[in-house]
Amino acid sequence: MKTCPSCGTADMGFDSRDIPFNYKGERLIVEQIRGWFCSTCSEALFDDGEGGRYAAEIDHFVKMIDSTQGEDLRRIRRKLHLSQKEAAQLFGGGVNAFSEYERGVTKPAKSTLLLLKILDKHPDLVEEVRRYA
Ligand SMILES: [Zn+2]
Repeated sequence: MKTCPSCGTADMGFDSRDIPFNYKGERLIVEQIRGWFCSTCSEALFDDGEGGRYAAEIDHFVKMIDSTQGEDLRRIRRKLHLSQKEAAQLFGGGVNAFSEYERGVTKPAKSTLLLLKILDKHPDLVEEVRRYA
């Protein structure tokens, strides 16, 4: 047993655990991370090298989710028959906005994302958007 740096009780035991990580509604389980886990609070101290493995898996997962969302934005834009430039003119964000969103470099504002989701379901409304843009 080891004393927990977070809650101060001597309730930390060495173990291997699956650590869940949530990002944008998707869940990754990083399997069998070795380390000290507190049974009083939720503190965890990863064993040597495990922090790096955890960080690498999370990093890969986040990039994968971001690129998936970028591909989804590209699909919606094409469905609306808009070039990246036209899409930026309609939705704002600057001339390179859609190029960056679609590559997962930056994220669109939540309002842009919501509007695109609505247009994905009702593509005919893009004409209405054009009128107000
Ligand atoms: Zn604790």
